[in-house]
Amino acid sequence: PGTPGQTYRIAAIPGDGVGAEVVAAGRTVLDALAADSAGAFDFAWTEFPWGCAHHERTGRMMDEDGLDRLADFDALYFGAVGWPTVPDHVSLWGLRLRICQSFDQWANVRPVRFLPGVRGPLRAADEHELDWVVVRENSEGEYAGLGGRNLAGRGPGGEVAVQSALFTEVGCERVMRYAFDLARTRRHRKVSSVTKSNAQQYGMVLWDDVFRRVAADYPDVETESVLVDAMAARFVLRPQDLSVVVASNLNADILSDLGSALAGSLGLAASANLNPERRFPSMFEPVHGSAPDIAGRGVANPIGAVGSAALLLDHLGRPAEAARLERAIAATTAAGVLPRDLGGTATTADVTAALVDHLGDA
Ligand code: ATP
Ligand code: MG
Repeated sequence: PGTPGQTYRIAAIPGDGVGAEVVAAGRTVLDALAADSAGAFDFAWTEFPWGCAHHERTGRMMDEDGLDRLADFDALYFGAVGWPTVPDHVSLWGLRLRICQSFDQWANVRPVRFLPGVRGPLRAADEHELDWVVVRENSEGEYAGLGGRNLAGRGPGGEVAVQSALFTEVGCERVMRYAFDLARTRRHRKVSSVTKSNAQQYGMVLWDDVFRRVAADYPDVETESVLVDAMAARFVLRPQDLSVVVASNLNADILSDLGSALAGSLGLAASANLNPERRFPSMFEPVHGSAPDIAGRGVANPIGAVGSAALLLDHLGRPAEAARLERAIAATTAAGVLPRDLGGTATTADVTAALVDHLGDA
């Protein structure tokens, strides 16, 4: 009853392995939220069965007109890509990176959240208070795909390959401004910039220069520049003073995996690939991969995918529902409903049911 609400058109791309299992869990939780919204909003799902099985059948990771078919959705909800039958660089570039690059999803936001009832390896007394966000440059850097093999034309055993990193002033500046704007919404207004600019003297020194220039526009935000090796140690030894960490594609990829492991498991980590101008749809996905070692057994942790659904709600302009979902996640782990990767015995279905139950808490 009441006025008809908004229907969000979401493209689900479950992909390979546990991707399909955790996307199904996320859809269940999002649909439960919509069902409880008294008609305020709903989701219209379209599923695209792309991935390595599709590649085995067709020789392509996604349909030829796939990007056109995705372009008009309000958001993309992605699982994971990769399977032993297809080389990893083929599956990654053929689907996930193709979408990220074509839709100019230049900011990859990866919160590192510590949940109640979850023991990570840090064992710090104030572990539950830790909370920082990695903002990853998602369009260039070390993943620009520049380089080649066999450059010197030498024979077997003497091959030479070059892998270049691309840094542009525009690319650095926009992701840094995103990081600073995000820092202004947080309790601790601080941005830590990460490079290896002592050893990489062109692109990363440009990064440092741009960071100094952008920082001058945000005098209310504290800043620091840290080398990536030192930052890896900081994550483990002294993460209390982190708030927003901005880094290049490769460095942020590695640091965010480290962050999620410290928080308890890779299975917990959520991620948003954003086109902040909203010219193209953004894509929401767990940080983890297809996990072939546990796929098909119903034991994957769905919390990373469900946390990504919360980021999706935020992006759709529903921060209250996003916060409600985050509270349900915390209530679920606090109640001890933990999947195997967190030391428990709950199945994907058990965790999903508990998440739906706890939506009723608030
Ligand atoms: P990618 O190359 O796509 O990043 P990967 O090979 O690095 O993938 P994952 O597939 O993410 O790695 O798996 C790494 C480890 O984490 C595996 O042991 C896997 O079982 C575990 N893992 C990943 N995701 C989950 C999950 N959702 N629940 C439980 N365990 C997971
Ligand atoms: Mg990985």
